[in-house]
Amino acid sequence: MLSITPSEIVEYLFCPRFIYFMNCIAVPQSEQRRLKVLIGREIHKKKEYINKDYLRKKIGCIDKELSVYLSSEKVKLRGIVDEVLHLKDGTLAPLDYKFTVYKDFVYRTHRIQNILYGLLIEENYGKPVNKGFVVYVRSKNYLKEVEHREKDKYRALNIIEDIFNVIINGFFPKKTKFPARCIDCCYKNICVK
Ligand code: SF4
Repeated sequence: MLSITPSEIVEYLFCPRFIYFMNCIAVPQSEQRRLKVLIGREIHKKKEYINKDYLRKKIGCIDKELSVYLSSEKVKLRGIVDEVLHLKDGTLAPLDYKFTVYKDFVYRTHRIQNILYGLLIEENYGKPVNKGFVVYVRSKNYLKEVEHREKDKYRALNIIEDIFNVIINGFFPKKTKFPARCIDCCYKNICVK
C-alpha cells in the first residue's frame, strides 16, 4: 500500500520542495536526517505529556484510546494518533499534543494534521468525526477545538494528492511563501527559482 505519514505532510506544509528533494533528487542522507530531526523532535517529545488516565468529560469524552496506529488505503495515510476520543454523541475525535505555545490561532499544519487523523479514524472505525482537539503543552496544556468541516477534509485530501504528484510524477513544486525558511535550509544551494 502506498501511503505517507503525518511527518511527511508537516514537511510538505513547511515547504513543498522538501518532499521533492528528499524523494526525487539524491541529497546527502546526513542533511536529510538533520532536517527530519528538526521537524520530528516534537513528535517524540510529546509522548511524555500524554495523560493516560484523564478523561476530558467537559468536552463530552466517555472513553479514549492512546497512541493508536491507523492506516488507510483510501486516504493513503498511516500514522499514530495520540488519543482517539469517544464522545457521548456517538462521534469520535482525534486529540493531538503539540510541544508549542498557543498563539491565538491553530497553525495550518496542526489543523490539517488533525483533520487527516480524523479521516483515518472515520475510515478505520466507521464512525463520524466532526471535530478534533489540539493540546498546547507549553501553554499549560491549553485545549483547542478544531472543526472538521467537509470542505476542510476535501482540502486535506488534496494536499495528499499533491504530495503523491511530487513523489510519483516528480512534479517540482513551488517554493515556500516564507523566505525566512530558506536561510537555514540544507537545500538552499540547489533550490532554484
Ligand atoms: S531553500 Fe527554501 S524553497 Fe528551497 S527547499 Fe529550502 S525552504 Fe524550501
